[in-house]
Amino acid sequence: ESISVSELSQSMGVKASDLIRKLMQLGTMATINQLIDADTAALLATDFGFTVEKKGFEVEEFIPEVEVDESKLVNRPPVVTVMGHVDHGKTSLLDAIRQADVAAGEAGGITQHIGAYSVQTPKGPITFLDTPGHEAFTAMRERGAKVTDLVVLVVAADDGVMPQTAEAIKHAQAAGVTILVAINKIDKPGATPERVMQQLTEYKLVPEQWGGETIMLPVSARTKQGVPELLEYIALQAEVLDLKSNPETLAAGHVIEAKLEKGRGPVATVLVEEGTLRVGDAIVTGIHYGRVRAMMNERGEQVKEVPPGYPVEVLGLSGVPVAGDEFNIVEDEKAAKEVAAHRAEKARQKELGSVKRATLEDLFAKSKPGGQKELNVVVKADVQGSAEAVSQALQKLAGKKVGVKILTSAVGAITESDVLTAAAGKAVIVGFNTKPETKVEQIASQQGVKILQFSIIYEAVDAIRTEMEDLLEPII
Ligand code: GDP
Repeated sequence: ESISVSELSQSMGVKASDLIRKLMQLGTMATINQLIDADTAALLATDFGFTVEKKGFEVEEFIPEVEVDESKLVNRPPVVTVMGHVDHGKTSLLDAIRQADVAAGEAGGITQHIGAYSVQTPKGPITFLDTPGHEAFTAMRERGAKVTDLVVLVVAADDGVMPQTAEAIKHAQAAGVTILVAINKIDKPGATPERVMQQLTEYKLVPEQWGGETIMLPVSARTKQGVPELLEYIALQAEVLDLKSNPETLAAGHVIEAKLEKGRGPVATVLVEEGTLRVGDAIVTGIHYGRVRAMMNERGEQVKEVPPGYPVEVLGLSGVPVAGDEFNIVEDEKAAKEVAAHRAEKARQKELGSVKRATLEDLFAKSKPGGQKELNVVVKADVQGSAEAVSQALQKLAGKKVGVKILTSAVGAITESDVLTAAAGKAVIVGFNTKPETKVEQIASQQGVKILQFSIIYEAVDAIRTEMEDLLEPII
């Protein structure tokens, strides 16, 4: 557990500069945004006449460990992603599979595009991630998530292996996911499935018919030829993989898709991978949390419970989560909120943490007697008007002890050259309704340049006032 100097100062109503001074006496050089540990915070607080109640846990401990209880494992449906080159028929095949759903008759069929759907086949249910292309797949894999059990690689029989086909093979193989090949568009006159099979052998995908291990099926998303067989083979492969989860624990899984909807608020499609997700559960994903208010499946039906291997739309989150992020169910909403807040704070600290620790020499240099100190500022804003307004507001802060000097004031994103200017001039960068370009934060942290971002002028003024206070002579 840790707390930043500024938070501690706010919670005690003590000036941050006083805290920093005290910290120096304790032998710690700290900046206002620095995180200090619980023991040091307690020591400081006592010095100022406060007592500290330690909570004594890491909030991430609210996230339950996955229970490995062999006796509770039950079979779950396979999760399948359809990949392949553009125009080879991924969307058409996903549509054809959706229509092949044997449960369509009774339940009304799949009507909602929620980013994933479950189809009933004579050999059991199969879950398809309905986001064709590999962006989602790659994004999740980059986060270390292995959401997909099987990849259906769609290759158009009249076009053959193309760059995105090769890329999809590479991704699936790197993830160690079994590939099933659907040689599509065999209804077309120019279709040459044999040629596709031949081409695929160059990627270590050898068809079963030729003594290899890869299932390759000729299909047509248009005439539906081969689609039932494809589903059957997927179910067979799933049996071989022996996919199991424990439905009796608190649910966990990944966000497949998320959006903000008018009247419904943040809506996330999640895939339940462990446990059973229930209405009323306290959920946390990334920096967002909430209570599961309602759940909706791909048939537009409200559901109360979702077992492992199934996707569902979840309502009730505090914000729109990131696709590919993990979600967890925790004991109660308070815990969910605390985990989310902790993560948000950590993300914020990471951003502000680009502040190099002030060295002792720096501080003594600043506190050399005589001469007015000056805070140098580089201002960047979205429009000229606000750049001027911010600069003027900051200049008004200049007083007898500390002055303010605007080194530059301009419009646009915060660039590397702003950082270099700030580094040279020992300045802080104030961004107003603008963000650093990619890599710029990294460069700033290397250069020890502080970037402060605001969208409200008085907040910028407050922050700069604090920076100025920090320049005041420490009394040791
Ligand atoms: P995606 O980019 O991989 O999602 O491909 P689409 O599903 O959008 O299909 C691209 C084009 O190929 C569309 O015009 C489809 O109608 C057509 N198409 C897809 N599958 C078949 C098929 O089995 N036979 C024929 N003749 N055309 C197909």
